[in-house]
Amino acid sequence: MSESQQNWIDLRSDTVTRPTPAMRELMHTAELGDDVYGDDPTVNRLQDYAADLFGYEAALFAPSGTQSNLLALLAHCARGDEYIVGQEAHTYKYEGGGAAVLGSIQPQPLTNQADGSIALDDIANAIKPDDFHFARSRLLALENTIGGKVLPPDYLQAATSLAHERGLATHLDGARICNAIVKLGISPRQAVQGFDSVSVCLSKGLGAPIGSVLCGSHDLIAQAKRWRKMLGGGMRQAGMLAAAGLYALEHHIPRLAEDHANAERLANGLRQISALQVQTPQTNIVYADLPATACAGLAELLRENGILARVTPHMRMVTHLDVPAADIDKVLSVFQTYFSKHPGVSSI
Ligand SMILES: *Cc1c(COP(=O)(O)O)cnc(C)c1O
Repeated sequence: MSESQQNWIDLRSDTVTRPTPAMRELMHTAELGDDVYGDDPTVNRLQDYAADLFGYEAALFAPSGTQSNLLALLAHCARGDEYIVGQEAHTYKYEGGGAAVLGSIQPQPLTNQADGSIALDDIANAIKPDDFHFARSRLLALENTIGGKVLPPDYLQAATSLAHERGLATHLDGARICNAIVKLGISPRQAVQGFDSVSVCLSKGLGAPIGSVLCGSHDLIAQAKRWRKMLGGGMRQAGMLAAAGLYALEHHIPRLAEDHANAERLANGLRQISALQVQTPQTNIVYADLPATACAGLAELLRENGILARVTPHMRMVTHLDVPAADIDKVLSVFQTYFSKHPGVSSI
């Protein structure tokens, strides 16, 4: 990204945040060692902190959320096993089929309901009997938040109990679990209850430049560590990155409430425009439907005004650390300008 784009209002994703001055300072001064030898004190501190925060025996720092999820799938499942997962889940849909390609793990994708859950009956019916005709059903993988939606704690309790009763392990893709924690006002440990492992992104709304942590039992994390090395994710003086992640976990969870308030502000403003159909956001992701004929013109006007967004008929806008409330008002005024000048596109 060029210098001039530093000041853009970027609504494409919460991955675009840049490290804050306080984070950069800690990255600069972090104590370092070779993490492949287990010698990096800052990585070790991050892992200990994350394990304790979420209530697991151990944790592992991974370069990306994709790798962290893959490590979990590879650690839980063997060749010829299958994992049950939502059609819309990141692990299934947006990670290049890594579990199948690299682990010979068969996905059993199931429909996500409108609230993001997978129906309990669908899960129960998809678990295969112990019969050599079938892949071995081994793992249930859920995602929270999913598409910005918070899965209800009662549902998570029921789904993970069902999985465990039927002999399956459970993994949570908690890339945005901290958004759910803040939205529900519950503790991190409560939010991951019932899951044998959780992957948490440090580089989304929490604002770290890079990285995820995978939490689980000592045994699971030991296996994940083998896979991480094999996949090329064993990093050396990674404490520079872990320092930012540790700062993010220590200081940036409560402030996600600001992102949620800004998403609401954005949705409420957009709702005043009759050409748009706006979903009520639960966390930091706003979805708006707009006329296809408006996309090109709106995208151009947004760009001219320093706003980056992927403009599609089903448009997603994400609020984060680098989008203050004043920026939301600017975005709203550009939308209002566009649709007041183009009343011809006011029907969907
Ligand atoms: C972003 C994301 C990931 C993957 O994280 P990367 O660091 O981009 O690889 C996994 N799951 C969900 C739900 C995500 O939103």
